[in-house]
Amino acid sequence: MIIVMKNGASAEEIEEVVKHIKIWGAQAHVDRGEVQTVIGIIGDKAEILRKPWTSFAGVEKALEVSDPFKKASRKFHPSDTTIDIEGVKIGGGHTCVIAGPCSVDTEEYVVTTAKAVKAAGAKMLRGGAFKPRTSPYTFQGSGEDGLKILQTAKQETGLPIVTEVMSIDQIDLVYKYADAIQIGARNAQNFNLLKAVGKMNKPVILKNGVATTAKEHLMSAEYVMSEGLNDVILCLRGTRSYETAFRNALDVALIPYLQELSHLPVIVDSSHSTGARAYVSSVAYAGMAAGADGLILEVHPNPCEALSDGEQALLPRDFDFLMKKLDGLKAWSQKEWNRFDKAAK
Ligand code: PEP
Ligand code: MN
Repeated sequence: MIIVMKNGASAEEIEEVVKHIKIWGAQAHVDRGEVQTVIGIIGDKAEILRKPWTSFAGVEKALEVSDPFKKASRKFHPSDTTIDIEGVKIGGGHTCVIAGPCSVDTEEYVVTTAKAVKAAGAKMLRGGAFKPRTSPYTFQGSGEDGLKILQTAKQETGLPIVTEVMSIDQIDLVYKYADAIQIGARNAQNFNLLKAVGKMNKPVILKNGVATTAKEHLMSAEYVMSEGLNDVILCLRGTRSYETAFRNALDVALIPYLQELSHLPVIVDSSHSTGARAYVSSVAYAGMAAGADGLILEVHPNPCEALSDGEQALLPRDFDFLMKKLDGLKAWSQKEWNRFDKAAK
């Protein structure tokens, strides 16, 4: 349920509602918007719905929200969330491209990649030091050595680091090096891990699961947010489908759909959703054209030697070309928007 306060409701009136939510055994989530404050009630007690909310001073209306996600819901938090990762903003009109190798390999490759993607316009560097691999016999990641290489690349380029944490026992180590934490598809519904990262204070890039629905994806975000962390970025990396031409399938309509249901930024991983270099840029472009808040892409200067996912890595020159195309899209969208905006006035 949400309580919508009247425009200009006073701090005391808001406080009174919050106090009663707590007295009646639920949690209050207060979202102070520019004009209106919305108070979300989080709890499962049915009787709280029957309380006389509209008789409180300053309350405009009380609405029942049937969605099981609350903190992630746009109904609880009507304006877009903007997340700041070491000065890099994402969401609420700020777009951000994250690029780098699938796995951290040599310092030379990672630093070369970091410099190349930065020069092309990427704002953050990705790279896995702990790798969730389908086979236990393939490369599993280079652990702390890999995290140190990412740190060196950050020192060389200033790009903040995104890297995956696969289990609760890796949290202390990964948090020493990462600026944002990736939760991969295989852990998208590892609820204990989601709660554990929700207790920490670094932004989380949360991928959808290999076969999760958009609403399940939002429930995973809710697990993180239920522990107090608001900085969650939803990442679409495709889901299993009957099509065998690609590794996964990404429905671009999920971008506006998630943005309608949630205030959280939505980014697209077109590397894992296609699995093949030839299609990565098209899906990235489609994602941005559909309004995504950013991209996360795999780039490697020598894909034949990549320790994982070489077949879907863009070469730095492909990445540069894509970024230039995206600049064109941005300029075009802005021009079209100005025209539309003027016509509407
Ligand atoms: C990755 O980003 O390298 C990765 C393993 O992705 P996903 O969890 O989407 O498969
Ligand atoms: Mn990968």
